[in-house]
Amino acid sequence: MNIVLMGPPGAGKGTQAEVMARKLFVPHISTGDIFRANIKAGTELGQLANQYISKGDLVPDEVTMGMIKDRLAEEDCANGFILDGLPRTIVQADALAAVLEEQGKKLDKVVNIDVPIEKLIERLSGRRVCRNCSQTYHLQNNPPTEAGRCDECGGELYQRADDSEETIKNRLDVYLAQSSPLIEYYEAKGLLLSIDGDQSINNVLADVGRGLGQNW
Ligand code: ADP
Ligand code: ADP
Ligand code: ZN
Repeated sequence: MNIVLMGPPGAGKGTQAEVMARKLFVPHISTGDIFRANIKAGTELGQLANQYISKGDLVPDEVTMGMIKDRLAEEDCANGFILDGLPRTIVQADALAAVLEEQGKKLDKVVNIDVPIEKLIERLSGRRVCRNCSQTYHLQNNPPTEAGRCDECGGELYQRADDSEETIKNRLDVYLAQSSPLIEYYEAKGLLLSIDGDQSINNVLADVGRGLGQNW
């Protein structure tokens, strides 16, 4: 199944995508994770992307699309993928459709996780991420067993620089201006599955499963 996961920053895309990927046996492709891995490794792409990410702005479309085109061409995407964090603009959505067509693929569903904007600040400011494996936690909503340590790999948990209150505000503005129109875009294409993200992680997962016709 070829799936796009959408929703505002902090909606729970990464959290859901991790589990969905395991259940569907397809890779979880997070544009944010790929950028952060490049930033950590000090690549040219990482240095360029960081100029935008640190401010909460979008990385330019041509950079992002080049990166995702290569990723989707990899062999592990042959039987499906969960794309988390792209498209974020209508231009990217059109470009994605063209990339997929070139590769003989098409989207099966676009899952939109809907969370009221005022809840997102709390989710983002409490988010903690594993430096080693990118597993995501929340100080209150989804804490690790041992404070500051990843349950999966024992790695150190850190707070993303762009999860500071200043940058969060800009990211939410960018979402409303540039990304939220994608909801209507995919609705018009008959691909949209809208999920109430303002419930527990497990209930969101159950709704996604039902919507995708999966029995999980
Ligand atoms: P996104 O990838 O959409 O930015 P994340 O999956 O990283 O969102 O989730 C943002 C934060 O909210 C994380 O700290 C995560 O643990 C927490 N979270 C995710 N889903 C829920 C939920 N359904 N209820 C409460 N907190 C959640
Ligand atoms: P979140 O899960 O909180 O929405 P992500 O990890 O998906 O955040 O993205 C972090 C940052 O990476 C974004 O704020 C943006 O700067 C950049 N980014 C991620 N995906 C894209 C994209 N499709 N287009 C442009 N920039 C992107
Ligand atoms: Zn870890």
